[in-house]
Amino acid sequence: MYDIIIIGAGPAGMTAAVYALRADKTVLLIERGAFGGQMTFSPNIENFPGTVSASGSEIADKMVEQVINLGGEFELGEVTGIRDNGDTKTVIADCGEYEARAVVIATGVKHRMLGLDGEDELIGDGISFCAVCDGAFYKNKDVAVIGGGNSALQEAILLSDVCKSVTVIQNLDRLTGEGRLQKVIAEKSNVKVITSTVVTEYLKDSGAFCGVRVKNTGSGQETDIRADGVFVAIGLIPENGIFSELTELDARGYFASGEDCTTKTAGIFVAGDCRAKRIRQVATACADGAVAALSACEYLDK
Ligand SMILES: Cc1cc2nc3c(=O)[nH]c(=O)nc-3n(C[C@H](O)[C@H](O)[C@H](O)COP(=O)(O)OP(=O)(O)OC[C@H]3O[C@@H](n4cnc5c(N)ncnc54)[C@H](O)[C@@H]3O)c2cc1C
Repeated sequence: MYDIIIIGAGPAGMTAAVYALRADKTVLLIERGAFGGQMTFSPNIENFPGTVSASGSEIADKMVEQVINLGGEFELGEVTGIRDNGDTKTVIADCGEYEARAVVIATGVKHRMLGLDGEDELIGDGISFCAVCDGAFYKNKDVAVIGGGNSALQEAILLSDVCKSVTVIQNLDRLTGEGRLQKVIAEKSNVKVITSTVVTEYLKDSGAFCGVRVKNTGSGQETDIRADGVFVAIGLIPENGIFSELTELDARGYFASGEDCTTKTAGIFVAGDCRAKRIRQVATACADGAVAALSACEYLDK
């Protein structure tokens, strides 16, 4: 029996572990993929305080080391559900069933992808999902943004202040982001919008990303757009459905929990990108991890 089981070993989960372990709780982290979560896709993180510049994997390794040094345990496996037994919870995973007195769910989000060949290998090496995180790496360069909703337009506006040119590629015949954002985009001289166009291929030159091949959905005509980087902004996918009986989800599938990271089930807490929030970053995930862990400790100590 553990005091706290944490599902997901991204920055939210690992920060929760550090805080819980330092409060003398026993902790198991269950992770189905890379210890470190999404940030392990990033070759360079420059906005995490205390880290001038480091790859996401380097930051993740330090977090893992810190958790292990404090006595935390890790299991590699996919959690498929939680059984609420009242004062205890059973976490069901493909690697076994584990008992705890409290659970922190820190399962993050997945970025929706186009599903094109070679896409996974280009993440962090041509393909990005976050202008706040990676925009500075494309200073005075040409970039493309895929998508036409609010996120895509916000990414394009941020990038237009840094990059030489920004091409917004939208599959529909119009942008779907708010009119206010469309107006800002229209006033930007270095932003070009191409509608009714889908990306059909990521282009490479000597193995390095160099642009995208696009196809007009009306005429079928294909064109190559040269770009130093492409920002994919076609949506995020929270995968919280398996926990929906014990928590409340908002209309987009995020945990509808407030800043205290509690849920409708006593003893179950949520943290990080999986929670409804405006800014999804390493720093905000860590902040949630700290809050969720301390809320869990308070619950256990009552
Ligand atoms: C390419 C890229 C670059 C980025 N660059 C930056 C940057 O420069 N600065 C910055 O601040 N942010 C950056 N971010 C965003 C940042 O990485 C995220 O905001 C942060 O990782 C969120 O942390 P999290 O712990 O909430 O979730 P995640 O990092 O998504 O971690 C959740 C973990 O839970 C695991 N998981 C999910 N479901 C299950 C399950 N059922 N069972 C077991 N495990 C499960 C996942 O495998 C994952 O490892 C970047 C993101 C990407 C993709």
